[in-house]
Parts: sequence; C-alpha cells; structure tokens
Amino acid sequence: MPQTSSPPVDCALCPRLAEFRATNAELYPDWHNAPVASFGAKDVSLLIVGLAPGLKGANRTGRPFTGDYAGDLLYDTMIRYGFATGKYEADPNDSLKLKDAMVTNAVRCLPPQNKPVGAEINNCRPYLAAQIEELPNLKAIMALGGIAHNSTLSALGCKRSAFLFAHNAQHRISDKITLFDSYHCSRYNTNTRRLTTEMFHQVFADIQMHCAA
Ligand code: URA
Repeated sequence: MPQTSSPPVDCALCPRLAEFRATNAELYPDWHNAPVASFGAKDVSLLIVGLAPGLKGANRTGRPFTGDYAGDLLYDTMIRYGFATGKYEADPNDSLKLKDAMVTNAVRCLPPQNKPVGAEINNCRPYLAAQIEELPNLKAIMALGGIAHNSTLSALGCKRSAFLFAHNAQHRISDKITLFDSYHCSRYNTNTRRLTTEMFHQVFADIQMHCAA
C-alpha cells in the first residue's frame, strides 16, 4: 500500500488509465497528462474530495478542477465562503489561493468518459487515505458525489452502510471529522438543476459554520 499522498507521474496501478494517459500524451503533448496532485496546504480544516480530473481541465492544467466546468462553481463558492482568495481564472498561474482548505480527487488520473471503474477507485484509495492522514487539523471533508463519499468512507475505515450518501447530509465520522455530502458540481448536475447554486452554497455555509466552531 502506498504511504504517500501522491501517485508517481508514471503510476501503473490502473492499466486502462495508464494507456489512456499515454494516448493523450501523444495527442496533446503540451498538457499535464499525469496524476493530478492535491491542491492546498497541510494545515487545513477542510478537505474537498472530487471524482477525477477532466480531460481538458485538470488533466490539461495539472490543478484539480482547473479548466473543468465544475471548477467555476467550486472555486467561486470557495471564495464566497472564505475558503479561497484571489481570482480563479482556470489557470494554475492565476491568483487563486486556497485558505484553510485542500482540494483532491478520489481518482487522480483521467478516466475515459469521466467514469473510473471500481478497481480504479480502489487502486487510488490508498493515496486518498494517505492524504487524509497527512492533515492533522482536519475537521471537515466534503464529498462531491457518491463515488467520493464511498471512497472517503473506505479510506477512513468506515462501513458504507452506516453512512449513506445524500445531498446536504452530514455524517459525524469521529470526534475530529464530519463528512459533508454534496451532489457533484458537474455541468450535467447543474444544467439539469439536480444541483443549484443555492443548494451548493448551503453546504458550504454549513461547513463554514462547522469549521469556525
Ligand atoms: N475536475 C476535477 O479535478 N475533479 C472532478 O471531480 C471534476 C473535475
């Protein structure tokens, strides 16, 4: 089991993802095309867990959610609730700085059709577990969607049946950590209004209150 929170750039744990990475490196040689590392410092209260990098977003830029449609709502909301400062401009060289928060993904490599399979989620989980372990001041984890929720529970050694995913649910995992669920802020979920901006803001408002307590 890996003891580090970042896979090597040539991680070969998932043959399908490694092959897809090689194909994209040929097609788009100027892009990141590698596992995307977590974004943020280690002394944070909040860890946000997404699903996986998007092709033309995080897989291109190398920063989680950066250049992905979902990043617009995520980073604007983080700024609004005091978990980031500066301006998000979909570019890792923009002035965005995370504040008391880190953003990571359940799966660090780009999956075809944005859909990692179970074995890939399992292969990448030790990196998520190591990432959580590295955060001594962690109070809240926000799971964006059911896959992030389930992988986080397993990374924490919790039984999934004891903590079911629901938008805006809060799960007290331990004396230290509460898990907050949200529907993923994807283009599909926002276009279909499964997730509205107001619904997303409400989860952040609750997390803000929790972290300030
Ligand atoms: N980009 C990411 O980095 N993660 C997601 O879950 C979606 C887009």
